Amino acid sequence: KRHDNGLSRDLYQLMDEANLYYQSQLRQHTDKQKVIDYLEFRGLSAEVIAHFGIGFAPDGWDGLLGRYRQNQEAQDKLLTAGMLISNDSGKRYDRFRDRLMFPIRDRRGRVVGFGGRVLGDGTPKYLNSPETPIFHKGNELYGLYEVRQRHKDPQKILIVEGYMDVVALAQFGVDYAVASLGTSTTAEQFQLLLRNAKEVVCCYDGDRAGKEAAWRALETALPLLKPGDQVSFMFLPEGEDPDSMVRQTGKAAFEAMTDQAQALPTFLFDTLASKYGTDKGTLAKQAIALIEKIQDSVLQNLLLENLAHKLGMNGADDLKKKMGFRVKPAN
Ligand code: ATP
Ligand code: MN
Ligand code: MN
Ligand code: MN
Repeated sequence: KRHDNGLSRDLYQLMDEANLYYQSQLRQHTDKQKVIDYLEFRGLSAEVIAHFGIGFAPDGWDGLLGRYRQNQEAQDKLLTAGMLISNDSGKRYDRFRDRLMFPIRDRRGRVVGFGGRVLGDGTPKYLNSPETPIFHKGNELYGLYEVRQRHKDPQKILIVEGYMDVVALAQFGVDYAVASLGTSTTAEQFQLLLRNAKEVVCCYDGDRAGKEAAWRALETALPLLKPGDQVSFMFLPEGEDPDSMVRQTGKAAFEAMTDQAQALPTFLFDTLASKYGTDKGTLAKQAIALIEKIQDSVLQNLLLENLAHKLGMNGADDLKKKMGFRVKPAN
């Protein structure tokens, strides 16, 4: 009887085969020219395409499936791996069709999922692998393996929204960006980031959704922060994302922008100030509600000090007294 890891091992193997298949289709499929045109339109270099293992899932229902016609067991596993879909009558077909394929690697470099982009304006724009026994979206970061290939011990990691952002940044030499996978950045992903670098810069799209993602990221990061962790936020001009930005500015100017990112406390206080303005009472209450999320008491007190000064009080003790802030018992 098989060991527990037997299934996982087979899934990794099949994901690897799928990845090689998609890459081979980029080289040899009869429709490859339209993909090459699209890659050129997006300005991706051959080098970065190879580095990230970008491939092509051809149109049709059985491009991948067809390779396992005689192998029912492999088909079952491809279904489990999210690469096939089974319809109501049990007929199976390829999940990814006519898409540009971005393999998602785990920290050991194994392909655990894919993101697939339409070659143009269709919907959905991106299709991601579903949750599977080897792929948990909230725990993986697209590009982290590739960052660690380039930097053994990165000082700074950028967290961006999309695959294209990671790939474009790397092409322009900003080769330390990762993306969360179509959802907002989770606590697990933040923990992973902070384990890998001292500085984490959140760089979401320059639109309303990006702004909101930044605020959610702040709320997610607060409970995890330890003294010395540097989390900051950079805001791109309206309509830009890291991909479009780095193409306009180049590496040096983009990196200068990351150096100007707002430290987390600045983002926190500035946002509340612009929201509540002169209403100091509400501002204090809202700020305290956020600061209470911080688990580390040293850091928590630092931010309370900071807030007290902004409110013209004598210090954290004064603020705590006035606001009835209850310090968590030390553990
Ligand atoms: P592109 O530059 O190729 O148009 P993008 O990354 O700028 O892509 P956004 O619309 O900014 O696209 O979305 C950011 C990220 O959110 C995507 O990279 C993808 O991971 C995810 N995403 C976007 N649209 C969808 C969708 N319809 N379904 C699932 N995930 C999506
Ligand atoms: Mn966006
Ligand atoms: Mn984009
Ligand atoms: Mn975008």
